[in-house]
Amino acid sequence: RFEGITMAPPDPILGVSEAFKADTNEMKLNLGVGAYRTEELQPYVLNVVKKAENLMLERGENKEYLPIEGLAAFNIVTAELLFGAANSVIQQQRVATVQGLSGTGSLRLAAALIERYFPGAKVIMSSPTWGNHKNILNDAGVPWSEYRYYDPKTVGLDFDGMISDIKAAPEGSFVLLHGCAHNPTGIDPTPEQWEKIADVIQEKNHIPFFDVAYQGFASGSLDADASSVRSFVARGMELLVAQSYSKNLGLYAERIGAINVVCSSADAAERVKSQLKRLARPMYSNPPIHGARIVANVVGNPALFSEWKAEMELMAGRIKNVRQKLYDSLSAKDKSGKDWSFILKQIGMFSFTGLNKAQSDNMTNKWHVYMTKDGRVSLAGLSSAKCEYLADAIIDSYHN
Ligand code: PMP
Repeated sequence: RFEGITMAPPDPILGVSEAFKADTNEMKLNLGVGAYRTEELQPYVLNVVKKAENLMLERGENKEYLPIEGLAAFNIVTAELLFGAANSVIQQQRVATVQGLSGTGSLRLAAALIERYFPGAKVIMSSPTWGNHKNILNDAGVPWSEYRYYDPKTVGLDFDGMISDIKAAPEGSFVLLHGCAHNPTGIDPTPEQWEKIADVIQEKNHIPFFDVAYQGFASGSLDADASSVRSFVARGMELLVAQSYSKNLGLYAERIGAINVVCSSADAAERVKSQLKRLARPMYSNPPIHGARIVANVVGNPALFSEWKAEMELMAGRIKNVRQKLYDSLSAKDKSGKDWSFILKQIGMFSFTGLNKAQSDNMTNKWHVYMTKDGRVSLAGLSSAKCEYLADAIIDSYHN
């Protein structure tokens, strides 16, 4: 009976790691998946995570089921980290927060909420965007289309295109926005541009739908990376925000995140939360406890919290260093006069090189540099020692 099932294509991002593993060349470099590596290119468990886990062991905490909405202490701190503890939406209890299965699962819950309570409403997303956004909405049965975002001529933001496409979307659409460190381009709107985006969204009665996967990890500051979301909240808008602790706390496989729905009253927030729970129950029943406790312990303990911020700054700083070094190497080696400064303007763990599919293939086939075919490289997988090699590979691929 399963004979008729055809082979599914490999995932465009996770498939890159598979191909990397099979390569025996010693110069090989995995810049596909967005996971932080040390300067020695090893995975990194944060010290604060180990400390929180030790505390949890000492306390002998049990493994009983969490409620459907997740760990209460986690839900409180996650909303406070995102909006700021003093924010009126927190004070007035206008946020429905439910712990989800990391960023992906939280986005999936939001999509299920949209499908059920806004039938026919469309989500519009940037072109390009993180590839899984489309899968998530497709599987939830939510229609979507794209707005212009990336301008290949400048390797920058097509702001006018973005604004006119958001304006042209049917009134009451959901506008999917990357809160910081846009994936895959690394190109974020300026604060002034965010204000204009919010203006258009309000004019059209659209609903902002933020994906915040890199808070604190992009700039090194939790507050700075949440400023886009907070500026929309300050306008009194209702909105959705999915959060992830994969990158900023390195909890990738623990699957820790949340969906937050900012409502216009505490009453509405309670009702929305009850419906989110109803959607979660048949999908996965309840979320994991281990990582949720880690987050609650780190944020709830002043010493661990400040240590976390220092570790985040360290990770963000290492990425900024290799970004600078890559730019320096490209500028020094490339004799064509090409301006590589767009690399320095990007933020977060990725750099969008502007390499097309054939050129990205050359990166992998000739140089053993594994990356996604859209020209995105994860700088988190790059060491200072490998910057010159990567620059050689990029220049060769560009000019061939
Ligand atoms: N959104 C974006 C934009 C991402 O880059 C990622 C991670 N690659 C996620 C969401 C979700 O990741 P996770 O499910 O591990 O939290």
